[in-house]
Amino acid sequence: MPVGYERFRSLLEEEWTASRAAQAALSADFASTSDLRRDSNIDDEHDPEGSTIAFELSQSATLIRDVDSRIAEVEAALHRLDTGTYGTCEVCHVPIAEGRLEARPWTRFCINHAAGA
Ligand SMILES: [Zn+2]
Repeated sequence: MPVGYERFRSLLEEEWTASRAAQAALSADFASTSDLRRDSNIDDEHDPEGSTIAFELSQSATLIRDVDSRIAEVEAALHRLDTGTYGTCEVCHVPIAEGRLEARPWTRFCINHAAGA
């Protein structure tokens, strides 16, 4: 692993900190929207406000899942830095372009194998 990859550690740590903050904010939102739904005793299916709340809850759940998986990806990338496997594609084992790592320092794949990652 080229020594230069150490600089991605601080990018990953920043991303981790930001993702944890987002996770906490999203979870708090989700909890307060859930409370609102419970307290208001709204009929989800027939009340327009109820469906808005249900929609918000499903949106929040999706965002929370995304941020959870981002945190897992970032932690895995930090682990790869520790073990010296960072920066190579998991599929073809070629070094991942530095520009790509700068944009997505947690990526496990080169541009050719990026499919959704
Ligand atoms: Zn590849």
